[in-house]
Amino acid sequence: MENCAVCGVESKQKCSGCNLVFYCSRDHQVADWKKGHKTNCKCYDILCNDILGRYMVAKRDIKPGEIILREKPIVIGPKTISNVLCLGCHQSLYGNYYNCSKCTWPLCGKSCETSEYHVEECKIMSEKNFKTSIKATGKLESSYCVIVPLRVIMMRKTQPKMYEKLSKLVSHLDQRISTKLYDVLRANLVPFILSFLRIPDITEKEILEIAGILDTNCFEVFLSSKKVKARGIFFETAMMAHECISNTKHFVDENLEMRVFSTQQIKKGEMILTSYSHPLKTTIERRMAIKIAKCFDCVCPRCTDPTEKNTFSSSIKCSTCEDGVLTSCDPLTNLSEWKCIKCEHKVAGAKVIQLMSEIRNSLDRLNKRSVVDCENFMKSYKKFLPDSSVFMVDVKYALCMLYGNVEGYFYEDLSLDQIQRKLQICNQLLSELTILEPGISNSVLNTKFELNVAEILIIKRQFKPKDETSKLIASHMAKITEIYNLLRVASDGKALIDNRFKKIKEESLL
Ligand SMILES: [Zn+2]
Ligand SMILES: [Zn+2]
Ligand SMILES: [Zn+2]
Ligand SMILES: [Zn+2]
Ligand SMILES: [Zn+2]
Ligand SMILES: [Zn+2]
Repeated sequence: MENCAVCGVESKQKCSGCNLVFYCSRDHQVADWKKGHKTNCKCYDILCNDILGRYMVAKRDIKPGEIILREKPIVIGPKTISNVLCLGCHQSLYGNYYNCSKCTWPLCGKSCETSEYHVEECKIMSEKNFKTSIKATGKLESSYCVIVPLRVIMMRKTQPKMYEKLSKLVSHLDQRISTKLYDVLRANLVPFILSFLRIPDITEKEILEIAGILDTNCFEVFLSSKKVKARGIFFETAMMAHECISNTKHFVDENLEMRVFSTQQIKKGEMILTSYSHPLKTTIERRMAIKIAKCFDCVCPRCTDPTEKNTFSSSIKCSTCEDGVLTSCDPLTNLSEWKCIKCEHKVAGAKVIQLMSEIRNSLDRLNKRSVVDCENFMKSYKKFLPDSSVFMVDVKYALCMLYGNVEGYFYEDLSLDQIQRKLQICNQLLSELTILEPGISNSVLNTKFELNVAEILIIKRQFKPKDETSKLIASHMAKITEIYNLLRVASDGKALIDNRFKKIKEESLL
């Protein structure tokens, strides 16, 4: 029991948003919300220090799966190089589409001409008689690089306060200016704004500054309902600090609203973290990607630990002893020597990098829809890579989803050996993924889902007494149902998950 925030009477009911304030009645809650709780109703604080800049800390204990924040983008739109999409609703466009009758940019139809996202930019471009050169070839288009910067520039008039806030974000322009991408922007974006649209009161430097702010602060988001990747500035979301193993996930729903949720228990006072890196990349690859995209050197616990929490996920096998693996002597220096943890055999950093980039190339070319190709990949790199290597985990994850779910490998087609293989892969995966992507992550949940499916398939082939069989199956189905509900929290691709769930439910009844 605590006291009502409005009248002080002892109350049991608390605000479900922040779990921090109590109310005696719905009326007092509504009154407090209007009085200002609306802006304070958060389960986190934003703090600031010299190393991290701004970062987010839990104001109370946060349970796994809780929504930490929801917000609309300050600006959203196509990526610098993008698939053809509608500038009104951001729907991906294939084949036939409609050209805006005013500015000629591809739209899904006439109704999107007046979309709130498109109407201002449409006016500016059509006044200058803009004609698009985009053709429906299915290729990526670089013309889209002008859209989001233009939307930001227009905010100077339409949302001056927001623009003010946005223009204070870091751009790292000094580091970006000498990159190829910025040569391209200088040759395309700048003349488009200055010479073609003739937007007044803005300089080349200011335009590039905006491009830098966007590149540093935008979240790339997959809009699953629109089948397209986009990018947007989400102010609160951007306050989370990065670590390569984070405790949140986020997605943007069909209303373009960002949702950040906790994947694990976060204790009061702990940092609320996001990750800009892919968990199944090596330390060198992750740090390089972060450096290029976000202009900082990651020194997170995973990156600084040569064993990566004892997963050895960036390691290669030792060529001189049994079971030994090599780890970097200094993971924060790319060319540092690598040493075997057993026999101390040493290999030059450049040699390791060479081998890893060959394996990465081969993995990029791998057809991950083919069971045979994936199994062959694992066989051919067994000599070099431990089971826990990110490359192996990546392929094992593909295999765990393929067995049972693709043509030629549906449940009824699988031999007992193949089911055992699926089970073995799932078990191995779990020991690695629960460290690299802990908690409510798609990869962990999907693996657990498939593990229980494999268990059911095995039980069904064991010819135990009927009672026993149905009891065992029911217990696995209960686990699957639990995982299915979490999967629905953790991702927005709900139709796919629903289908898989339906399929296994039917299978278990057969
Ligand atoms: Zn009250
Ligand atoms: Zn609240
Ligand atoms: Zn549209
Ligand atoms: Zn238009
Ligand atoms: Zn890191
Ligand atoms: Zn060795």
